[in-house]
Amino acid sequence: MANTLAQPVITSKAYRLIEPGVFQETELVHEIKNGEVVVKPEMASICHADLRYFSGNRRQEALEKKLPMALFHEGIGKIVYAKDPTMEGKRVAIIPNISGYAQRQQNKYNCCPPCQRGVEDNYCENAVFLGSGYDGIGQSRLVLPKENVIFIPDSISDEFAVLAELCSVSLHAVSNVSDFLHEGKAAVFGDGPVGYLTAAVLHHVYNIPKENLIVFGAVEEKLAHFDFATTKLIFDVDFKAMRNVVHVFECTGGAFSENAINQAIDLLEPRGALTLMGVTENRVPINTRDILEKGLRLYGSSRSSRKEFEQLMASFQNKAFQACLAKLLPEKPTIIETVEDLTRAMNETLEHKGWKKTLLSFQWDE
Ligand SMILES: [Zn+2]
Ligand SMILES: [Zn+2]
Repeated sequence: MANTLAQPVITSKAYRLIEPGVFQETELVHEIKNGEVVVKPEMASICHADLRYFSGNRRQEALEKKLPMALFHEGIGKIVYAKDPTMEGKRVAIIPNISGYAQRQQNKYNCCPPCQRGVEDNYCENAVFLGSGYDGIGQSRLVLPKENVIFIPDSISDEFAVLAELCSVSLHAVSNVSDFLHEGKAAVFGDGPVGYLTAAVLHHVYNIPKENLIVFGAVEEKLAHFDFATTKLIFDVDFKAMRNVVHVFECTGGAFSENAINQAIDLLEPRGALTLMGVTENRVPINTRDILEKGLRLYGSSRSSRKEFEQLMASFQNKAFQACLAKLLPEKPTIIETVEDLTRAMNETLEHKGWKKTLLSFQWDE
């Protein structure tokens, strides 16, 4: 680490995506500002968002604006440098949303209008997000405000800890409506990892019993994993005839959003809540007449903040929750030593579209 000017700098070996399908090994130079720590990323999991960049399944403007960039925002690492030496060597989960005020190490109330209103950091207008227009976890040294790392208790293994980001997104969505969560049944649309973790949070963190937790999916084999919930194949359901569902969490995204959202509108009780979590590139036509008539509440939810990570480091110690998360884990992580390893891991994940997450174990030279 060279300490030339006032700010120390550090070099980082990054696997940057330069265009869809093509990574390039690049050396990045990061300044280390006051209040920042240096993390050596050790494990990451591949998100759909990473796959959308890699496969070029984003609008052209978005790709041009955001690339070249190191991918990945779900990950953990080890602190290799911190002003407070007691932090060094600690295993941490990485909080990928860096608020504007944390970047400048200022007070939240000097940041943007949402921050001044006290809104959560994931809605900060000046925030950057790792692996989304800002170099992500796919590099050997990541410089982050100290608020963007959270210690992992020894009782939580790397494989579980790496799921914290994905779980935090579900937890954030559920916490928006937690005040009236127990007024009726809750339903989740989507049998992929986001649907699974949202259902898992509803059951293991918010204690919704199996009979009051319904998961709708399209693939029987995927639904079979949800043994803590009541599952139904969407083709078999008369949504208008079902009663007592007060919450729906839409976790489908893409082309399935339109059906799921409109089925949710049919399903929900008057004054029920529909939380949208699935990402779509296109606009979705929805039945506003029945939203009006039933007085439904729509919530958007995206990303998460430090609060959810803190909550999860406690919840993850629950053995039943761990057993539930374990179903998403592959037999072993994929070792990444080179750009070629990473390219292969991305291509395999795209091809298999499996239900389990792909974990990347980064082996940096130093
Ligand atoms: Zn993600
Ligand atoms: Zn802000």
